[in-house]
Amino acid sequence: MMTRQSGALDALYKDVILDHHDCPRGYGKLEDATFQHEGFNPLCGDHVELAARIGPAPDHLVEKIRFEGKGCAICMASASILMEEAEGRTQASVLQMIQDFRDLMQGKKEAEDFAGDAAALVGVRAFPVRIKCALLPWTTLKEAFEGAGAPSTTEGA
Ligand code: ZN
Repeated sequence: MMTRQSGALDALYKDVILDHHDCPRGYGKLEDATFQHEGFNPLCGDHVELAARIGPAPDHLVEKIRFEGKGCAICMASASILMEEAEGRTQASVLQMIQDFRDLMQGKKEAEDFAGDAAALVGVRAFPVRIKCALLPWTTLKEAFEGAGAPSTTEGA
């Protein structure tokens, strides 16, 4: 029973990831971006470039966010999910979400704690080398918000 249930869940999650990979949300350029930042995962060759337009204080709303890049299916699906989840949130809320996602990848949170498609990436935990692929877009956005000058990399992440 448990096996059947989790098998169905795995299939559902796989569909979500494939859907984001096949039809990435928020893929493209953003002409009026207020910041841009790029990240690399040398282990896999993943590369993402994020561009966002952030609204004024105090909310710093993520008005629009886009990504471009090349990488494995997990990384590209994860970037697509991040775009969908981040747009329309305040910067503080996005930073909290990034921390929650890191906790999910590190096994400190469970998929049930997530309302959005990010939960679908929980299966990546079974493949430790892929965790960096999933985390790259999220880490890159976090460092962008924190004003990092140099490109993000998953080295030491
Ligand atoms: Zn990758």
